[in-house]
Amino acid sequence: MKVLKFGGTSVGSPENMRAVMNLVTDGEQKIVVLSAMSGTTNSLVDIANYLYKKNKDTARIFIGKLEDKYKQVVEELFTSDDNKKKGLQVVHEAFTTIKSFTSGTFNLVGENTILAQGELISTNLVTLLMNENGHRTKLLPALDFMKIDEDKAADLHFIRDNIKAVFQKIGEADYYITQGFICKDANGEINNLQRGGSDYTASLIGAAIDADEIQIWTDIDGFHNNDPRYVENTQKIEQLSFNEAAELAYFGAKILHPQTVLPARIQNIPVRLKNTMNPTDGGTLITSDSDGRGIKAVAAKDGITAVKIRSGRMLMAYGFLKNIFEVFEKYRTPIDMISTSEVAVSLTIDNTLNLNKIKEDLGKFGTVEVDEDMSIVCIVGDIIEEEKGFASKVFNALDGIPIRMISYGGSRHNISVLVPTVNKKETLQTLSSKLLNH
Ligand code: ADP
Ligand code: ASP
Ligand code: MG
Repeated sequence: MKVLKFGGTSVGSPENMRAVMNLVTDGEQKIVVLSAMSGTTNSLVDIANYLYKKNKDTARIFIGKLEDKYKQVVEELFTSDDNKKKGLQVVHEAFTTIKSFTSGTFNLVGENTILAQGELISTNLVTLLMNENGHRTKLLPALDFMKIDEDKAADLHFIRDNIKAVFQKIGEADYYITQGFICKDANGEINNLQRGGSDYTASLIGAAIDADEIQIWTDIDGFHNNDPRYVENTQKIEQLSFNEAAELAYFGAKILHPQTVLPARIQNIPVRLKNTMNPTDGGTLITSDSDGRGIKAVAAKDGITAVKIRSGRMLMAYGFLKNIFEVFEKYRTPIDMISTSEVAVSLTIDNTLNLNKIKEDLGKFGTVEVDEDMSIVCIVGDIIEEEKGFASKVFNALDGIPIRMISYGGSRHNISVLVPTVNKKETLQTLSSKLLNH
């Protein structure tokens, strides 16, 4: 069985929802993972933020606007009065839940429950639509099997066991629809796989059922060799290895949630990226093979903070790095890049939740400097094969860019440079013209 995920734009209007229905109903049994309609999760985040700020009146205005939008969607989506009524009931239930948080104190459970409503609405509406059009379709409730643990890591064992049970409970259908993004956490509360997480849902389900293929359908024809939001004339890549795709996704290529590739790689399930607006295009195929050598693509990840610890005690001493790493471990803060000299170590983090405590603890080992608003630009490909002169090619291309850190040699798939975010666009553009499209 295949797992197909459709993103926000792909289900962004009644017309697009119908296009998705026509695409998936080819007689082959499948699981379809849906995001919320485009713009919905952003609106729900805004609503939650107003509630946190106790700005309840503004929250109510935005809730009302969003509800009106969905009533219009229902009106346009269904033909029969009976289904229009059922569609309105779906919308009514979701908005009753959202409105219930406009009184009393607001907390994380409220926020996560509000954020979940977008996927709950889109999946219920598309399931109704498909049945109205004679396609035997059932809803697989993601909250009954998608789970994260205390460390917010997906619990694949739980997902595998419980999706089986849910299949048995709901019985046979030609098409199964489920919610991307949403899950339960270790406390049994509604939670999510972070923004863009529907891709990750699809790969987790793919791994859990040992799918033949995981397809991520979106609004572009596949993985491009640079970020089309910042660079013109980017080109589609036909094929990527799991490792290359994982590095690109982790380092900011928005087309894939950072963790999407991992479950697919473990089970060796091909991942195909496809364009909902141009379904006959082959898209990008991600497998264990790497075709071709050299540089494939670049990507950038924003919101990076660089931390530098300088200490005379580091000179000729062992145990220094261990002490430094222990601080980050203590505050559960992952490190992305690292670079050392005899007297200093620089590293980068993107989670600054405990930065002040980290700084305080690191202060015991030396002088600490922090640089915010940085971006990691990551150059990915089968790089080791690129003979001599590779590094100089990259550095020549980056001539004039203020590079703050470099990581080279950690993996054969990745060279990363740290630049101030204000220089990110320029960095991506110069890499495109001098390294990728020459
Ligand atoms: P969806 O809502 O379908 O999940 P996303 O907006 O999350 O879609 O991802 C698709 C978008 O990712 C594209 O429209 C494009 O602007 C952006 N993007 C960023 N980097 C890349 C890349 N390297 N290749 C393709 N698209 C990219
Ligand atoms: N709807 C969620 C978001 O906008 C998840 C997703 O679309 O992948 O982040
Ligand atoms: Mg996405």
